[in-house]
Amino acid sequence: MSEIKRIAVLTSGGDAPGMNTCIRAVARCALYNGRDVIGIRDGYEGLLLGAMGPLDAREVGGIIQRGGTILGTARSEEFRTEAGQLKAMQILKEHGVDGVVVIGGDGSMRGARALAARGLPIVGVPATIDNDMWGTNMAIGVDTALNTISDAIDKLRDTASSHRRAFLIETMGRNCGYLAVMAGVIGGAEVVLIPEAPVTIEEVAAKVEDAYKRGKTHSIVIVSEGANILTTELASALEKMDVGFSTRITILGHIQRGGRPTAFDRLLASRMGVKAVDALLAGQTDVMMGLRGREVEPVPLADVVTRQREANLDYYEMAKMLAF
Ligand code: ATP
Repeated sequence: MSEIKRIAVLTSGGDAPGMNTCIRAVARCALYNGRDVIGIRDGYEGLLLGAMGPLDAREVGGIIQRGGTILGTARSEEFRTEAGQLKAMQILKEHGVDGVVVIGGDGSMRGARALAARGLPIVGVPATIDNDMWGTNMAIGVDTALNTISDAIDKLRDTASSHRRAFLIETMGRNCGYLAVMAGVIGGAEVVLIPEAPVTIEEVAAKVEDAYKRGKTHSIVIVSEGANILTTELASALEKMDVGFSTRITILGHIQRGGRPTAFDRLLASRMGVKAVDALLAGQTDVMMGLRGREVEPVPLADVVTRQREANLDYYEMAKMLAF
């Protein structure tokens, strides 16, 4: 493989707090090692438009603490096609790019694989608040999202106990209940609904009513976006069933994606960004940086895009027990 002289970086898919910290780490590490850095705007969509330009060390200053991504992010249908990928390869060649760091979720890693298969040196960095990716204990953004959720639960509990209410709090996570389960443990929820463990409305109602009878002043129910019962459906059913508490809904939505990255996310993003550049410079490709135990290590992109992350059912059981 020829020497990597110019490294491009892009962010893709849903934004996650800590993406900026990672862009900074990739750029500074590459520049420190005497390489040129190119920032690609708006993920694969911007790549296909040739929307890219040099990034210098000062341009990535002052972003370590900012949520979102200064490069912008997008989803691209054209990039999923063979023609789109060939075009992307041609554009990267024209800009003299020898290697790419892709920061994003599992769809973005599928895109990275497609370019790796065409011979481009490419390394992925996991960033998504859902924590639904195989190969890393934590993706960038998850810790910040959990802190946002726990702040929200604390505030909602204050008002819930003052009025003896049950609050149904919906978290993000279309196919993965990670955020909801962890929110259940750290926020002290009575019930958690996740896609991996379907429940009936009657079961949820029985638990909420039981909490009422045991003298609790409030009940917190965390509903993952992908759970088998819709939050609105559950709320109206609980109202009709008379479970003791009156019911209110809060859908946390995109608030979970924003905000200053936590210390954990900044450290993880910095470590992963540096390791991604190190890997490219060492001739590695078609891998993603994964947090395995305490170490950041490369894992094959082939595994990341084909293997399923297992649900945290131990934590799910723990949340249930601690609701006693
Ligand atoms: P999040 O988990 O936050 O939604 P993501 O990276 O999974 O982030 P996606 O929308 O799934 O977000 O993927 C981002 C982009 O990656 C897509 O818009 C598309 O351009 C590209 N992509 C996804 N899957 C493939 C694929 N199989 N082949 C090529 N490119 C893909």
